[in-house]
Amino acid sequence: GINITDKINAIAPSATLALSTKAKEMQAQGIDVINLSIGEPDFNTPEHIKQAAIAAITAGKSDFYTPALGIKELRSAIATKVTKMLGVPTSADQVAVTAGGKFSLYAVTQAVISAGDEVLIPLPYWVSYGEQVKLAAGKPVFVRPTAATGRVSVADLEANRTDRTKLLIINSPQNPAGLVYTREELQAIGDWAVEHDIVIIADDMYSELIYNGNQFTSIWQLSAAIREQTILVSGFSKTYAMTGWRVGYTVAPQWFIKKLGSFIGHTTSNIAAVSQYAALAAATGPQTCVEEMRLQYEQRLNTIYPLLSAIPGVDLRKPAGAFYMFPNVKKTATMCGYSTVSDFCTALLEQAHVAVVPGVAFGMDEHIRLSYATSMENLMEAVKRLDKFVQQHL
Ligand code: PLP
Repeated sequence: GINITDKINAIAPSATLALSTKAKEMQAQGIDVINLSIGEPDFNTPEHIKQAAIAAITAGKSDFYTPALGIKELRSAIATKVTKMLGVPTSADQVAVTAGGKFSLYAVTQAVISAGDEVLIPLPYWVSYGEQVKLAAGKPVFVRPTAATGRVSVADLEANRTDRTKLLIINSPQNPAGLVYTREELQAIGDWAVEHDIVIIADDMYSELIYNGNQFTSIWQLSAAIREQTILVSGFSKTYAMTGWRVGYTVAPQWFIKKLGSFIGHTTSNIAAVSQYAALAAATGPQTCVEEMRLQYEQRLNTIYPLLSAIPGVDLRKPAGAFYMFPNVKKTATMCGYSTVSDFCTALLEQAHVAVVPGVAFGMDEHIRLSYATSMENLMEAVKRLDKFVQQHL
């Protein structure tokens, strides 16, 4: 028969998917569920991007394999975008186009982690980091922030460093708490990583979704020494509402990108050519769509944040970026008679028809994650239901 390897058996099923599957089943039964468990923009891909893809198909440009690292025009366009955004001259041969940012992260972990290497991952973490590290036979080491900011410091990292520490994953703006690291914090972390020869992955996926005057800094832009050992990962999914197109990218030293090209060539080949032409239009076309969507997320955040914070027992730090809120609801759950936050989430879905993700999926089981990538109307109704659910249980 078919025997599954230990490596594959060890992968945890996606907790975010399990919950949204249950929410969808309830919706299929005709139940009016508000789903705040989804991690993607609620907007359609902007029209000019879709039209560029259609034109590429019509012109026959999407019919053949492309180079493994992506079409030259797109790699150049990404290099130009990165140069402009981060103020660091970047060339097309420092760019690899991948099947979402997720495959960039997978390829990079495969490329830098050997068996037994330790990888520092700040809490709370995005669900796939730890699993990808395990797939590379590495060991995830989760780092708990001690400061009230919720962000890890050099002291937190140093407390978890061993001589097997190989890699650090920094995600800012961060999923799930919307934390954004300051330039000073990143400078200190970057200098520390250089001092101890620890490679950094900068997951900058949400770099263009920052609110209320907060500033984005990439650790990658802070010094040439940091750049020598940092791999930047980003993509088009969140910025341009293009999750379905699967376009991500890696920026790294040219020699590393060349190696990555061989890995990509033997795994996914290239990403769908049509998606590359769509991404080319996204990167080179008008950027007003990005700002329009960002403004809507910001308005939703500013409207919902005080309402959610006012619910009994909810402890919430205001997010600065991405499109999630990650309150500690342990008190709320206890007040309502639930011994775990996960039980509270199940009851909330079954009784109040609101789907959120239990924090245990992100390594912090006293929290829940709510996505505000949904309409203001849905958000207002969800908060109303949550409040009513809590009041009824008090
Ligand atoms: N990194 C973070 C922190 C994310 O939240 C996501 C998507 O949810 C990704 C990377 C990967 O996104 P994609 O593969 O769609 O580019």
